[in-house]
Amino acid sequence: MTSEFIVLGGAEEIGANSTYLNLNETGFIVDAGLHPQKRDRNALPHYNYIEYKPTDAFVLTHAHTDHLGGVPYMMKFNPHVRMIATRPTRDLCEVMLQNTVKLLRREAPDDIPKDTLSLYDYTVLERMNMLVEGYRYEENITVTGSHGLSDVQVRLYDAGHILGSASVLFTVEGKTVLHTGDIQFTKQDLLPGASLPRHHVDALIMECTNGATEHALTRDEEKQRLADFINMVSDRGGSVLMPTFALGKTQEVLKLLHSLMQAGKIPTLPIYSGGMSRKISSIYDRYCYAVPRVQPGFELTDIPQRDIIWEELYTGDYFREPSIVVASSGMMNVGSTSFLMVQRWMRTPNFGIAFTGWLDPNSPGYELLHSPKNESFIFAGRKAKRKCDVEKFRFSAHATREDLIGFVLDVKPKKLFLIHGDTEACESIGAQILQELPQTKVCIPQLGKSYTLFD
Ligand SMILES: [Zn+2]
Ligand SMILES: [Zn+2]
Repeated sequence: MTSEFIVLGGAEEIGANSTYLNLNETGFIVDAGLHPQKRDRNALPHYNYIEYKPTDAFVLTHAHTDHLGGVPYMMKFNPHVRMIATRPTRDLCEVMLQNTVKLLRREAPDDIPKDTLSLYDYTVLERMNMLVEGYRYEENITVTGSHGLSDVQVRLYDAGHILGSASVLFTVEGKTVLHTGDIQFTKQDLLPGASLPRHHVDALIMECTNGATEHALTRDEEKQRLADFINMVSDRGGSVLMPTFALGKTQEVLKLLHSLMQAGKIPTLPIYSGGMSRKISSIYDRYCYAVPRVQPGFELTDIPQRDIIWEELYTGDYFREPSIVVASSGMMNVGSTSFLMVQRWMRTPNFGIAFTGWLDPNSPGYELLHSPKNESFIFAGRKAKRKCDVEKFRFSAHATREDLIGFVLDVKPKKLFLIHGDTEACESIGAQILQELPQTKVCIPQLGKSYTLFD
């Protein structure tokens, strides 16, 4: 039986994530991302590697831009593929891709060819909504490839990462491959954590975002640190800016702030949030009973929030009264709300900035976090000075190193492919598994190289 695995983007990094699987001549593309920072030839996946191979279905694990942002580009090369996702992911696609269009137009990336940029057109995106088939978790999906020698069964499992996120189990001729997508086993504030089968699989393709981070503080310890930080800043009359990804992290952070206020751990301060994250929150609310939740029925739109007004980024009321501002982007990408807002924010000594997620080492957010207080530094290519406090908190939507290893030990794959993490993260997990499961073949796949899934 033919079994082939090729990484088309996101090998040894978190980038334009996309992978290809050939299962007995039925071809699958899993995810098609846009790199969060790069705007060169690695900004989008490399579909030239599969030009002459069968492609029958596209499976989207979740709607984060590093998995979804390359979909219009993928469709150019593979216009005939069936598109498979969960229902919430299908709903989130529209909002997220519209934002990608806006982002690419604003950045005017010189290194992305014009004909590629032209694919990012609002009318194309509207059509996408009709093309994506939305499924429930654990529903049986049969894919019959046009040249396939046998049907492939596909099942989407709750990956616990963000609303609608899925791990994908493929079964063909009795052989199984599990692609984790982005995964979180531990309960967050809204989502209860992944629900995956823990039986043996022949091949496991696993994300490794936190693979090199050992024994991080627990979520409760981080919550306490955040509460202490907010109290310190608001006690001296300042406001806290939380640069946060619009999809997933914002909703978790809103619930977290709401819980801290309800428990009296922080004062009831005005919370400001942006338009795009509001749209996403309402999609979260649409599924407040339909998909597993820590607190079924809880609606984010019930949390009192004020609008971040674009024209008032430098003059809003948060500059006059202690407030919490939850603004995208999480990495303070140039031109984003958090990037613009921070220009005045960082010069205000009694204010604070609380980062909540992963920061690409090339991002403005990373530069700011590592900048010396009250000294000049270079921020997105310009000279700046930070007078406010800045702190980073870990509310990861990705599994801990310990949980990832525990999962591999349970499913005992014959082959393990490690993706979606930097080299250190992938190697660190790989080394541990080689020690504990000597029968398992461990592979850190290279971009564009073909590997066999089953021997
Ligand atoms: Zn993700
Ligand atoms: Zn990702």
